[in-house]
Formats: sequence, structure tokens, C-alpha cells
Amino acid sequence: MNQSVHQRMQELEQLLNRYNQEYYENDEPSVPDAEYDRLFRELKTLETEHPDLKSAQSPTMKVGGKPLGQFRSVQHEVPMLSLDNAFSVDEFEAFSKRVEQRLDTNQTVTFCCEPKLDGAAVSLLYENGLLVRGATRGDGQSGEDITENVKTIRNVPLKLSGNVPEKLEVRGEVVMPLGAFERFNEQARLREEKVFANPRNAAAGSLRQLDSRITAKRPLHFYAYSLGLISETTQLPDSHHQRLLQLKDWGLPVNIEIKTVDSVQGCDDYYEAILARRDTLNYDIDGVVFKVDSIRLQQDLGFVARAPRWAIARKFPAQEQLTTITGVDFQV
Ligand code: NAD
Repeated sequence: MNQSVHQRMQELEQLLNRYNQEYYENDEPSVPDAEYDRLFRELKTLETEHPDLKSAQSPTMKVGGKPLGQFRSVQHEVPMLSLDNAFSVDEFEAFSKRVEQRLDTNQTVTFCCEPKLDGAAVSLLYENGLLVRGATRGDGQSGEDITENVKTIRNVPLKLSGNVPEKLEVRGEVVMPLGAFERFNEQARLREEKVFANPRNAAAGSLRQLDSRITAKRPLHFYAYSLGLISETTQLPDSHHQRLLQLKDWGLPVNIEIKTVDSVQGCDDYYEAILARRDTLNYDIDGVVFKVDSIRLQQDLGFVARAPRWAIARKFPAQEQLTTITGVDFQV
């Protein structure tokens, strides 16, 4: 019995490692995200049931993919992690209970609710208000230096205004808006060039161009959603939501759908409302993210291997399937 479980776990590890490479390193997935998520969960469940069989190199412990060697490597002083997923309201409630138990509180926890933007995570480092470095998430510990490329994104400020900390690392998502993505692929098809499987891969692929003039021609958009390294935190509010508003004041683009709620019901209402409006947004989202709003409580909760304990992504039901158009995998 354990022999066949072990075999299945090894099989799943190999598959997930392959899919990670296709998705993160080549920007060319061969299976829909829903299939990847199903295999990931199967492996996680087997690892929980058979901890003795879990590999120290398991993909369930890792973030993203290896940074590409063509780029200079950037070490993330504060790791760039992934997010745990909840696929149902019950799983979200279980998360919320775990948070309360860990914090040992019966008090209501305020959550910051945000759309889960389906693009590529980037880190922007500002020194004395000037953009000095842009990096990809990579494997969470080190990413690729894409400074010249992020500088070409029109809504990324090169200079911040106001009383900005000396060192400020802003994290967020780069997306390709839907209309622009369709136009881009249409033109690529006419020129018989590579089409991107979906807007996420288009954003990630566009960011990792060796020639920033190519990135400059891609219609990319940035949304800030958190802070990394900060030289002085004293003047910053304890609330994550308030910090995002502060970023906005300094000139950074922040998504307008973000709001705070004080209950699990409030989180559920937010999820349903955004899901209902998903098709009206001009960028892809694959769920919503709920974050414990208090930074102090976030610090109390801490992290596990690849994700913070204070946040969860509630994913939308899978929409996409892989089809093949003119010999190229294309996701619709
Ligand atoms: P994730 O996309 O599930 O969640 C973490 C990421 O969410 C963050 O790194 C950040 O980039 C992003 N994000 C978007 N909005 C955010 C917000 N408001 N606040 C914070 N973060 C926000 O995790 P991941 O590790 O990037 O990718 C895992 C997922 O990627 C899988 O669940 C799967 O769906 C997909 N994937 C697919 C394949 C495939 O072959 N199809 C392979 C690997 C991964």
C-alpha cells in the first residue's frame, strides 16, 4: 500500500515540477491551472496523511520557479511568498478559525479584501523616492533583475512624491489588460508569431525580455498590493489597507476594488460581488485575496514554508480549458 502511495507521490512531484518549469520559466503552460491545482492538492493531502514519505524537495514547499540565468539575480531581503488557497466557503471559514485560534482571540478580525490579479508578481525598490530596481519573484528568495523593463510600464512611477521612507520596497502585480491582450495576440497571429496562452503568461513573458524596447511596446499595467523592505516603519499605519492608501498618496497605482470587512460574512459577500462582476473588469482575476488587516497581527501569525498564515486566496471556480489553435496551446 505505502509502496503505491509513495510511487504516486513521486509521480505527482515530477509532474508538478515539470508544470512549474513550463509555467514559471518558459511562460508556456501545457495544462489548465485547475488541473495543476488538483494535482497540487492531491500531493498535499498525501503528504499530510504520510508525512514520512514527504520529500524535502517537494513542490508543495516551493515558490515559483528558478530565476532565468540571462538576468542578473536579485536577492529578496524579505522573501516573496505565494498564497494558500481556499476553494470553498468552508475552507475560508476553516482559515478564519485557524487565525482566531492562533491569535487566541474572540475579537472580530478585520480583513482587507482584494481582487487576486492574474499577472506576474514584481518588487519595486525606491531609494529616496526614486525607482532604483525592479525584480521578479523568482523562487521567492531570489528573482530576476528587470529594472529597465519595469521602467517602461507607463503607470509605474519613476519618482514618488511626499515623505517617503529612504528605502521602500513596493510589491504588486503586473497585468496585461484583456483588450490589449487580445489585440496583441491577434497581431501576433497575423504575423505568424508566438501567441501567449493567457494574459498572465503575456505579462510574465513581456516582463522577461532581454531588450526593454520590446517590453516598452507591450501594454502592461501595475497594481501595488503590499510592502517588502522598509527603512523606517514608524510613520506607517498598523493597517494594511491604510498602508495601501499611503502608497496611493505617494503616487503608486492601487486597485480601486480593495476594501476592509469585519466578518466572515463580509468576506463572503465581497467574494460573491467580485465574482458577479468578474467579466466586467478589464483585467483577469482568478479569485480574491483576504488578508488580516492589522500588521501587528500579521507579524504574530507569521509564515509557513511558502505562504503567510495571515492571508488566503479564495479561488474562483475554474473557467479555462486548453485548446490548440494553429499548433500553439492557447487558453480560452
Ligand atoms: P498564486 O497565484 O496562487 O498566489 C500568489 C500570487 O498571487 C502572488 O505571488 C501574487 O503574484 C498574486 N497576487 C495577485 N493579487 C494579489 C493580491 N491582491 N495580494 C497578494 N498577492 C496577489 O500562487 P503562485 O505561487 O504564483 O502560483 C500558483 C498557481 O499558479 C497555481 O495555483 C496554479 O493555478 C498556477 N500554476 C499553474 C501551472 C500550470 O501548469 N497551469 C503551473 C504552476 C502554477
